[in-house]
Amino acid sequence: MEKKILKLLEKAETVYLDNFSRECWFERAVFLSWYCSIGDCTFCYMSTQKDKIKDPKKARRRLSSVLAEVLLTKELVWGVEFLSAGYGSFSNDELLNILEKCFLFVGEKLWLNVGYLTERELEKFIPFVKGVSASIESVNWKVRKEVCPSKPVEPMLKMLELAEKKGLKKAITLIVGLGETIEDIEELFKFVEKYKIDRVTFYSLNPHPGTPFTKSPELSYYLRWIASTRIRFPKLEIVAGSWIDRPEEFKWLLKAGANAFTKLPAFKSFGTFEAKKIEEGIKEVGRVLKGSITELPAVNWEKEIKKAGLEEELEKEVLEKLKKYLQKMEKNINQ
Ligand code: SF4
Repeated sequence: MEKKILKLLEKAETVYLDNFSRECWFERAVFLSWYCSIGDCTFCYMSTQKDKIKDPKKARRRLSSVLAEVLLTKELVWGVEFLSAGYGSFSNDELLNILEKCFLFVGEKLWLNVGYLTERELEKFIPFVKGVSASIESVNWKVRKEVCPSKPVEPMLKMLELAEKKGLKKAITLIVGLGETIEDIEELFKFVEKYKIDRVTFYSLNPHPGTPFTKSPELSYYLRWIASTRIRFPKLEIVAGSWIDRPEEFKWLLKAGANAFTKLPAFKSFGTFEAKKIEEGIKEVGRVLKGSITELPAVNWEKEIKKAGLEEELEKEVLEKLKKYLQKMEKNINQ
């Protein structure tokens, strides 16, 4: 790592430690569906799937699977980053039902990342929602128009303003490596200030086969975005994503001032060699992981499911799904 970057990270780490404890955690984004009616953002996996999905309803996850994941997330002391679905995946009533049930399991309000929401929609979801996340993707507006030709930013800005009016928290997600440059960071700073953003999630571009992108940005470039944002906004919550095939990256994201990390394929990577490496890296930089990505807690799962008071049939389905996830995770641990 270049000296200049190391200096920047040192400064960002000091700012972080002046404002937060050493704890960090894994934020799990819970996906509800693999369909999106927009489907043409050039970097997005879903843009490669849209034409293959004849019936959007079939691209939905079963409610039992979502609930099993949310319960596991809670018991492993991870955070639910947000519930996320592509545009046009669910009706408002369906979404409300999912939110309500997830709320019963997590015991707290959730973040929602489902695209634009109108005032009426926000009002409908408010009992179960603590904040909304807007997929801004890039603050270089020219780049953004190119990579998201059918997802204008204006309705998102409106949603952020409405969220402020309703007393909800506001988050944005950004992908680093879409064609912007570090000079664009000033635009991010202005944006965070203007819309009073509480949380920024950074991702480094992971090129999906079938999209025009072929490489991820350099780690040092990605870290500059995170560290500079931390230094500029000492109290902002920052979540940073990396990939399971880059376990050595996670400690750098934390050094750059991230509160939490995201993007791990949680069940597939749980307990693996890579997950252990991530935990070692966290210790190495003096941070403390809440919960675990390598060890399962001793939980009476049936009892925990019952607490939510679901209908008997759904309760059974959640338990079955949960057992499957646990089997997968145990298999990783024992390998
Ligand atoms: S709107 Fe979101 S889910 Fe849909 S194609 Fe664009 S990035 Fe992907």
